[in-house]
Amino acid sequence: MIDLRSDTLTQPTPAMREAMANAEVGDDVFEEDPTLKKLETLAAKKTGKESALFVPSGTMGNLISVLSLCQRGDEVLLGDRSHIFLHEVGGMAALGGVHPRILPNNEDGTLPLPLLEQSIRHTDIHNPPTRLICLENTHNFCHGTPLSPEYMGSVAALAAKYELKIHLDGARLFNAAVALDVEVKALTQQADSIMFCLSKGLSAPVGSLVCGDRDFIQRARKYRKMIGGGMRQAGHLAAAGLVALENLVERLKGDHQNARLLAEQLAAIKGIELDQSKVKTNIIFFKLNHPEIDGDTFLSRLEAKSIKILMTDPGVFRAVLHREVSREQVDTAAQTIQSILTL
Ligand SMILES: *Cc1c(COP(=O)(O)O)cnc(C)c1O
Repeated sequence: MIDLRSDTLTQPTPAMREAMANAEVGDDVFEEDPTLKKLETLAAKKTGKESALFVPSGTMGNLISVLSLCQRGDEVLLGDRSHIFLHEVGGMAALGGVHPRILPNNEDGTLPLPLLEQSIRHTDIHNPPTRLICLENTHNFCHGTPLSPEYMGSVAALAAKYELKIHLDGARLFNAAVALDVEVKALTQQADSIMFCLSKGLSAPVGSLVCGDRDFIQRARKYRKMIGGGMRQAGHLAAAGLVALENLVERLKGDHQNARLLAEQLAAIKGIELDQSKVKTNIIFFKLNHPEIDGDTFLSRLEAKSIKILMTDPGVFRAVLHREVSREQVDTAAQTIQSILTL
């Protein structure tokens, strides 16, 4: 099976399994797990923040970040294609009483700066006060595009001017850093809080980190406990995360290369619309434009040939490259897609 649905499908490496089995652990609710502390210290260092907190999922990390930065009735500005708005079950509104206000994302995952500035509101009695801007890097549903340090800087200048906070959904932060060839810090110094995932291309089985200053992490730790995310001997999970951060970051470049190769081959197939210039990391989007084969038929024919991808909208597909898709499998996938569409 060549499974291109998501980089979350990556299995833990043998080194991870060994590290997990042998991890020194303690009760993390008592803050006594040495392996977990080591991971949190490393995450804080990589993002250039004072402190970090391990959480079971990216969704929980984003939620407790918003809860820790906002009060009930506050407004959050975020993109209409952002993961937080589209795919996190409306947690900020449902559980935090926080008001999401969506702005249209540009194709490259940015939010238009003039619109962002116009959307900020503070003083009128009728308005919920704007408190927070959420950005996403890389931007999953905007072709996996990385946001540049320069763009982050422009948003930070705006946030400073209006005394707003910035939360960065960096589920694929390390893909962004590798693709732009910058230190992770160059993409996180502008944000008050950052979430990144270990469980995507970095291949750990479970876990994300939330990073920020000490006060913020203290509040986040309390919210994590409140929503049932306080864990005990979680060092077994953290051990895999340490292997990920120490050994599996550089290899993300190979996934990006494979994405470009796959995109190049798919773009040449009749019936597929794909803009290769948009492929910047490990995510590819394309449209099916075939006179006889519709999206569902395409998917089932692919699956019959042991290939899986995701249909994100009718006729729109996402393929994600990751550690378990080899260079050869990229060619096989492209050839198979070509043979299905030229039937
Ligand atoms: C996957 C993802 C998340 C959520 O992570 P989970 O661990 O699946 O909850 C958040 N943001 C983005 C951009 C993602 O791709």
